[in-house]
Amino acid sequence: MNFCSKEEVFRILENMCHVIRSNEKYLNDLDSVIGDAEHGSNLKKAMEESLQKIKTLTCDSPFELIRIFGATMASSGCGSGPLLYGLAIRAFGRSLAEAGSFDPMNVARGLREALNTVKTRGGSEVGDKTMVDALEPAVQAFEEAVHQGKSLVEAFAKAVEAAEEGMLLTSTLVGKKGRGSYLGERGVGHQDPGATSMYLLLASVYQTLAGKEL
Ligand code: ADP
Ligand code: MG
Repeated sequence: MNFCSKEEVFRILENMCHVIRSNEKYLNDLDSVIGDAEHGSNLKKAMEESLQKIKTLTCDSPFELIRIFGATMASSGCGSGPLLYGLAIRAFGRSLAEAGSFDPMNVARGLREALNTVKTRGGSEVGDKTMVDALEPAVQAFEEAVHQGKSLVEAFAKAVEAAEEGMLLTSTLVGKKGRGSYLGERGVGHQDPGATSMYLLLASVYQTLAGKEL
């Protein structure tokens, strides 16, 4: 399978956008408990804008496509969710551009860069009830799979499983970052919207790579 083409990357981004569009209300509802009920709409708006932006690009590099998609999301002014996602995707694209291929080892490195970016910019760690609770275990699982010699698709399958577990665990946590933290103990029992969108997005990437229908 050719993972490297610009068209393949565009399709992945388009499907990521599609999964958020389909789950806009679900994500807003999750956000209504602990935040301002906009996480789904924020992400949808930022991702649609970024998709439009990369449609206008003439560059042939799939890595640049990812980087510019992320940069556009980050500057969309749609709230902290899209800002952190945008910075993470930009860091991922930049790392891949330096590496020059979608070799699983390079993708693992790019994912680690994305995670570090969210943690540094958000000041967040696992257990704070944020997207990091889904992303960090996903990155760890991806790295482990790659070190065991698994393919890109197999490594993404492991990452998605880990992200889902991390997402479900956020229900048991007290929020420490973002708007979720304002609720304190009362947030327990509610799943974090950002961890949920992270799981959905990683699952979408996996499904596109595996050639499955969304
Ligand atoms: P806002 O917080 O501006 O309303 P969104 O509703 O779009 O933005 O996104 C909220 C999600 O972003 C949260 O559920 C959480 O997962 C994530 N998030 C918010 N702040 C942080 C942070 N400091 N570190 C990591 N993730 C964060
Ligand atoms: Mg919100």
